[in-house]
Amino acid sequence: MQFLPACSKLRQMAKAALVALVLIGSTLAVRLASAQERAAKTEPIVLHAARLLDIENGRIITPGELLVEGERIAEAGRTVTHPPGAQTIDLGDSTLMPGLIDAHIHLFLHPGAEDLQTVQESVPQRTILALLAARADLIAGFTAERDMGTEGAGSADTAVRNAINQGLVLGPRLRVSGNAVDILGGHEDAIDYNPAQHVLSNATYANNVDQIVEVIREQFKEGADFIKMYETGPDSIRDGKLSTPYQYTEAQLEAAVHETARVGKRVAVHATSEPGTLYAAQAGVASIDHANELSEETMRLMREKQIYAVPTFTILEYFAEHAATPERGRFMHELLSLKSREFKKQLAAGVPMAVGSDVGPFPHGTQGRELVLMVQNGMKPLEALRADLLNGAKLLGWGGQIGALKPGYLADVIAVAGDPLEDIAAVQKVSFVMKGGMVYKH
Ligand SMILES: [Zn+2]
Repeated sequence: MQFLPACSKLRQMAKAALVALVLIGSTLAVRLASAQERAAKTEPIVLHAARLLDIENGRIITPGELLVEGERIAEAGRTVTHPPGAQTIDLGDSTLMPGLIDAHIHLFLHPGAEDLQTVQESVPQRTILALLAARADLIAGFTAERDMGTEGAGSADTAVRNAINQGLVLGPRLRVSGNAVDILGGHEDAIDYNPAQHVLSNATYANNVDQIVEVIREQFKEGADFIKMYETGPDSIRDGKLSTPYQYTEAQLEAAVHETARVGKRVAVHATSEPGTLYAAQAGVASIDHANELSEETMRLMREKQIYAVPTFTILEYFAEHAATPERGRFMHELLSLKSREFKKQLAAGVPMAVGSDVGPFPHGTQGRELVLMVQNGMKPLEALRADLLNGAKLLGWGGQIGALKPGYLADVIAVAGDPLEDIAAVQKVSFVMKGGMVYKH
C-alpha cells in the first residue's frame, strides 16, 4: 500500500493517519493508488467485463468496456478504443456499473451509539470512526453519499469531506449537512435525562424563523453542502395509522428553503408522516427522508415538484431485529409492515424515489441491503437501480456527472458478481471499485 501526496509534511501526516487506520483494525484488502502514482502513470485504463449496465436505456450490454482517461470516462460500450500504453483491467465474469449512491447516511454513528454518544465519545474520537466508516462505504461500492447529520459532532463532517477530496483518506464523494436542525425538546434532543447534567442535543436548536435563518447561515459558514431538518417525531401507531407531531410549520420550512436557495443550496427533512410531510412538500424541500406514510396531496406535490422520498427500509429492519425491549421490537415490526404497505401506494402514485439506508446505527459497508429491500417491497430491480443512480445523482447535485457510465462522466465505476437486473442482491457482491478514475478495490 502506497500513499504519497505531493508535499513531504503532508505525506508524513497522511502516512501516520493511514497507519492509525490500519492499526484500528481493518482487514479489508485495499489497493490504494496514490495521487502521485496516478500522476506518474497518466496512461488510460480500459476496464473489460462480461457485462455492462446501461442504466439509462435499462439494459445489459455484453461484453462491456470502458475507457477511462484521468478522472473521467472517455468511451463506454461493447468495445472501446485501446490506446497504446493503456492499462487493461479484465474483470472477468462480472457486471460493470456506476458506483452506488447512498442518499441517507451517518458517518458519525456506529452500532450501539445512542443519545448518550455526545456524553461518552469526544468529537475527535467520533471523527476517527467516521473516517473508517467512509472507507467501509467506499469499499462496499458506494462512491457518493449524502451525510444526513453528524448527530452532535457539529461540522466535523466538513473535515472528513475535505480530507477525502484532498486524497488524504479514503471515502466516497460526500455532500454533508453538519449538525441537523431541530426544535427545543424535539426529535433528537436528549430528553429524559437529569436536567442538571445538561446532556447535549444531537442537533442544533432553531425555534423560529430568525433562529432558522441564523443556524443555516452558521452551518454554511462551517462548510455544509445542504441543510437537514427534523420535521417529525416521536412516532407512534394509532389504529393502524402513523401518528407523529410536526416540528416546524409550513411557513418556517419555507423560510429555510428560501434561505438555502439564496445561496444555491437545498433542505432535506426527516419526516415520517402527516402533517409534517405535507408541510415539507408544500415548502419545496429536496427530499423527504423516511416518508413512511404520505397523504394523497403530499404524494401529488412530490410528483409535481419532483421531491424525492428516501425510504430507509434497512434501518427499520435493523431496529426491528435489534430492539432493546420486546415491546420496542413489536412496535418496529408493526412500523415496518405499515411502511411496506404505504411504500406500495407511493410507487403506484409515482412518487419519485431515491435510495438511502440510514446506515450508521447498523454497520457501514452493509447498506447494499437497501436496494434488496426496495425490490422485496415492490420495485423492479431496474427501477431501484434508477432510483439509486439517476435520482441519487440529481438529489446530491451531481446530475450529469455521476450515476451512469457515459463519456464525460466521472469514472465512478464498480464491478459486481452476477447481473443486477436479474438479481438485485448482486449489488452486495462488489469486487472492484473505482472513484474518479482511481482504483480503490480490485
Ligand atoms: Zn438518519
